[in-house]
Amino acid sequence: MPIFTPARRWQPAFRPFKRESFGRRALAAVELAVKGPLFGCRMCGNCLLQETAFICPMECPKGLRNGPCGGSTPERCYVDETRPCVWYKIYERAFQMGREEMLLEVLPPLDWDKVGGETWLDVIEQVRKVGVKQFVGGMLSGDAQTRHDTWQSVFQPVRQPDWWRGDAEYHPPAYDEPVSELERRLRVGEFVVTAEVSPPMSTATGRLLRNVDLLKPYVAAINFTDSPSATPRMSSLACSVLTLEQGAEPVMQIAARDRTRTGLQAEVIGASALGVRNVLCLSGDSGRMGPAPLGRLDVVDIDSVQMLWILRRMRDEGIYLDGREIKSPPKLFIGAAASPYASRPEFQAIREHKKINAGAQFFQTNVVFDIGGFEVWLNELAKRDVLDKVYILAGIAPLKSLRMAEYMHYKVPGVSIPEAVLKRMERAGDGAAEEGFAIALELIEQVRRLEGVNGIHLMAVGWEEVVPDLVREAGLAPVGKSES
Ligand code: SF4
Repeated sequence: MPIFTPARRWQPAFRPFKRESFGRRALAAVELAVKGPLFGCRMCGNCLLQETAFICPMECPKGLRNGPCGGSTPERCYVDETRPCVWYKIYERAFQMGREEMLLEVLPPLDWDKVGGETWLDVIEQVRKVGVKQFVGGMLSGDAQTRHDTWQSVFQPVRQPDWWRGDAEYHPPAYDEPVSELERRLRVGEFVVTAEVSPPMSTATGRLLRNVDLLKPYVAAINFTDSPSATPRMSSLACSVLTLEQGAEPVMQIAARDRTRTGLQAEVIGASALGVRNVLCLSGDSGRMGPAPLGRLDVVDIDSVQMLWILRRMRDEGIYLDGREIKSPPKLFIGAAASPYASRPEFQAIREHKKINAGAQFFQTNVVFDIGGFEVWLNELAKRDVLDKVYILAGIAPLKSLRMAEYMHYKVPGVSIPEAVLKRMERAGDGAAEEGFAIALELIEQVRRLEGVNGIHLMAVGWEEVVPDLVREAGLAPVGKSES
């Protein structure tokens, strides 16, 4: 396997923000000259090569440090078509080297104070503290765990202080009573239904509130997307609060794309104070999908795994990212997006496992059309023994037209619609909406039978009026709502 990477991949992505001595700057230049060609190093100063199969992930245009986004494919990055997905390469190599379990390490947000600076002096100092003999012995050990622990003993203190390091462990929620109605229903074993509503593009709330009233009797909670396709709309927080006032329960989606670490923590504290309990963390569609003029794509502070990790610690440990105490911590039921088809199922299962370890309590998956592929993904999660640690709501999107089906299949990252389904929609002609409804019903019936699936998440965006019929026909309406 070639280890040298093309030069354009290892340009330093950042500049140091502080004045440093000539010696340190010279050392940084040497470090880049060595680590750049070898690992594609971008001098983030928070080295994680051990956990990423010795490929630097910093060239990911979404700035993801904890695994691929839902748009990752073997061919190319969906944001930057000129390059392959670096995370796909990392996963491939990690599996080839038998290092895939190291991908589970949750890597906290970057310490930008270190970005662009050299790390060798700190590493040398740390090796001295550990003991040169112990370090060399540990790294030459035949036992992978010893090698990993030795590496961590040196590099962990260099990249992060002890009190905000990540780990590869599962942390069960540190509370007993469910914090939301959605969580309560899932805990008692109800097969739940949630549905997605797209926030309005103006300040007018009439249609939004009508949709909330329409869906309220049929769903456990209503999701509000966070500027999907990187196109601004009413905020998910505002929609969530309006929904609470309407007597329904919201799921507030938060996209990492538009958040800094400060913004995320502030928003969640505020949302919890206003009564929002369910939050769903996701990377968010790239700004590449948004309207012109194109904004900066490289302004990324946190990724979705880091969001989950930050929120879990805020809730369970009562601390902000910086370690300050939160006297009255937020009450949260934390969810994440899952992409059963984005890359190889065993790759995705690691990504999902990592999200569970970071703090995800429920998944709402990308849309499911291929039941076979969905089952393969579930089996991979079962092999990792995580199905009892997370609730899974399978994404179901009723297709309204052939055009919509083709758009989703060809344009939406991570979505794949089998040829047979596309053919059915084509043959249906003017009856495409009825056919799409029938396909959705069949899919609901099929996912209900699968072990590990705890509910469905309906994505009938722009066609919300179909939800009550779909829920009734599927036999999922609460008692008293089965007749129209
Ligand atoms: S496909 Fe996604 S994860 Fe992969 S490099 Fe592109 S933005 Fe990053």
